[in-house]
Amino acid sequence: MSKKNLATIAVRGGIENDGQYNAVVPPIYLSSTYAFDGFDQKGPYDYSRCGNPSRDILANTLAELEQGQHGIVTATGTAAINLICQLLKPEDLLVVPHDCYGGSYRLFVNLAARGAFKLKVIDQTNQAELDAAFAAQPKIIWVESPSNPLLRITDIGDICARAKQCDALVAVDNTFLSPVLQQPLTLGADIVVHSTTKYINGHSDVVGGVVVTKTKELGEELAWWANCIGITGSAFDSYLTLRGVRTLVPRMKQHQKNSLALVKVLDAHPAVKQVNHPSLASHPGHELAKKQQLGFGAMLSFELKGGVEQVTQFIKALEHFSLAESLGGVESLVCHPATMTHAAMDEAAQLKAGITQTLIRFSVGIEDAEELAEDVKQALDSI
Ligand SMILES: *Cc1c(COP(=O)(O)O)cnc(C)c1O
Repeated sequence: MSKKNLATIAVRGGIENDGQYNAVVPPIYLSSTYAFDGFDQKGPYDYSRCGNPSRDILANTLAELEQGQHGIVTATGTAAINLICQLLKPEDLLVVPHDCYGGSYRLFVNLAARGAFKLKVIDQTNQAELDAAFAAQPKIIWVESPSNPLLRITDIGDICARAKQCDALVAVDNTFLSPVLQQPLTLGADIVVHSTTKYINGHSDVVGGVVVTKTKELGEELAWWANCIGITGSAFDSYLTLRGVRTLVPRMKQHQKNSLALVKVLDAHPAVKQVNHPSLASHPGHELAKKQQLGFGAMLSFELKGGVEQVTQFIKALEHFSLAESLGGVESLVCHPATMTHAAMDEAAQLKAGITQTLIRFSVGIEDAEELAEDVKQALDSI
């Protein structure tokens, strides 16, 4: 069969596979257990933690979107990250970026403190720190690009090439871009992880995750662990997430269009000190993002001039943005990382990561671009 476009994969995944009634949309299988065909004759499914038809359709569709061989749908994004940690023995070294997702950081640090594996936390955009990390013979390199909330870009292809030389695996958290805007496996990565809670489901009504592997063997090993530690996703969540995936491609297009409109407003306004978005030529990762991404993405952050008073007024004046954590849904969200998503970091760690009191993050939704831009402009004018 010919190579399919991502939009076709997303829309057609599991369509018309119902042998019983020819339903066009795949039915949802909520049963926890499946009858054997006869004594010692197991059918394709026996128990829903181990395997479930609704979950498998989602897993296969996401694996195809990421151009991987195997997909494993998990109960949360964090469960997907925990699943990768199962590959590590106490003597193995995991290398992670200092500005990775807060929940990932908490998991890595606490598992390492208990002796599950060795951990090195580095700035992956710093060549000297990368050299030292590779010299220590890591087992897995964890990459998250773009980073949260400053949208720093890490060279995935370069890290993968170096990892190959020392037999290390590279796992990429691709949550911020989705397979529509970045395909880590084609850049040389071995594993892709998503919090499907974000763009993949896209409607802020499911918490979920997925792991996609480049090889079938690694996928089977991880699928075994997912069942063993009991973190596979539910049938109902899988059904809803697949429903969200259908529109992933057009959603990402609109998310990006809207974010570019907001970057323009923010970049031109005198109340704004700095805008962080890889689409800007002034962004340190601009050229790299152009090379390794298929679009600049819809997450952005910016610093206001002034102090907390200006932040408070700006957020209060916004009409079309909800003040909330999370991202990737159809609705626009505004977040103050210092007191919300990154509140667990102490002030010194926040400043080291570039998270100031006047930094604001947008998850730009798919509302009307002009209305969003007008809203941001009037809120900036009000401070
Ligand atoms: C939200 C998020 C996670 C964690 O996913 P959950 O579904 O909340 O468990 C991991 N990585 C990134 C980049 C995220 O944004």
